[in-house]
Amino acid sequence: MGDQAVPADYKRFIEKKVNKMLRLQQRLDSSYEKADDQTLIEIIVQAKKTLGEKVVVLGHHYQRDEVIQFADKTGDSLALSRYAAEQEKALYVVFCGVEFMAEAADILTNDRQKVILPDLGAGCSMADMADIDSVELAWKELSQITDMDAVIPITYINSSAAIKNFVGRHNGAVCTSSNAASVMRWALGADDKTGSAGPELVREAKKRGRKVFFFPDQHLAINTAWKMGFSPSDNVLYDPETDCGGIERGALADASFILWKGHCSVHQRFTVAQIEYFRNRHENSVVMAHPECSNEVVKEADTVGSTDAIIKAVANAPRGSHIGIATEVHLVNRLAKAHPDLHIECLDPILCPCATMNRIDLPHLAWIMENLTADKVHNQIVVDEIIKEGAKTALEKMLQIV
Ligand code: SF4
Repeated sequence: MGDQAVPADYKRFIEKKVNKMLRLQQRLDSSYEKADDQTLIEIIVQAKKTLGEKVVVLGHHYQRDEVIQFADKTGDSLALSRYAAEQEKALYVVFCGVEFMAEAADILTNDRQKVILPDLGAGCSMADMADIDSVELAWKELSQITDMDAVIPITYINSSAAIKNFVGRHNGAVCTSSNAASVMRWALGADDKTGSAGPELVREAKKRGRKVFFFPDQHLAINTAWKMGFSPSDNVLYDPETDCGGIERGALADASFILWKGHCSVHQRFTVAQIEYFRNRHENSVVMAHPECSNEVVKEADTVGSTDAIIKAVANAPRGSHIGIATEVHLVNRLAKAHPDLHIECLDPILCPCATMNRIDLPHLAWIMENLTADKVHNQIVVDEIIKEGAKTALEKMLQIV
């Protein structure tokens, strides 16, 4: 896409986004910082009582226990955003997750609802790895060496609203960790006859000559392509730190997947050595991994799936099973507590919380909630209307596909 095709209001949005990047979480009033946990808990309980149906508190699966106890609903990012949209009486949606989740909620909720992120520092390191300027530049660079009409952009839901908008404007779609394979099959133009995986699907996809440009998590894309039957040589990695992503024209011509060089700082910590160590300690052990882990880890795991899939697999495990899980530690610890008949542990012996999500704590939640009782809204996440439009198109495309 040439410069002339970029709308002026979109450029203004980019400027605003840069300014927003400089915005920092304001220092809390010292009364919240100094208060003990019991006092903060009482403030939140009282505020929830006062606000009643006017507020809904959402807690992502990776959120810390002291915060999640106040969640009216727990879940993954898409489930929580859709839940928020259904709570039409809730004027305030307090999203105890990270920024991209709050943005998705603002896109899906109505104009009256205000989405709030209790700590503006709660970003997602993976989402931040694909900033809109770099993605626009990548698209332009690749258009010098390949036909971009055959390139379908797909973004993992763990991305900014600006990236979702970019994808929507280029006829692509959003995906989640549970539906990435279906969305990729759609993008590659595979029809129902080829099945969901295997050599025929790969052959047909290659015959059509389409390519998926996947943002921002290389591992989810690699694992999904591998599960569909593609080989590592069908992938090229786009490194935004390198000229033209470090991609050669020849390698690009043969590739079906262009992968943005992004990763999750939590899930990339898991290793095959941790799995081996766990299996050596327990007979009949079961290993479960999230698809944001590396392909080596995923290949070794017995079960691979989204947080919801892991929660279901644990619920269905035979009593007494030893289960080692490669995902965020707060979720793993909660599963262990909820299933005392199972032996559940996180495969990473050094605790691996989602550090940014865990910036949301009792003082920030108490500050937000108490101010809401006086109709004072702090930390509202507002997605610009022009960004909303494209992002919604990409989200709706996903919902049509799956
Ligand atoms: S766990 Fe990883 S992908 Fe999920 S919010 Fe945290 S940094 Fe982002």
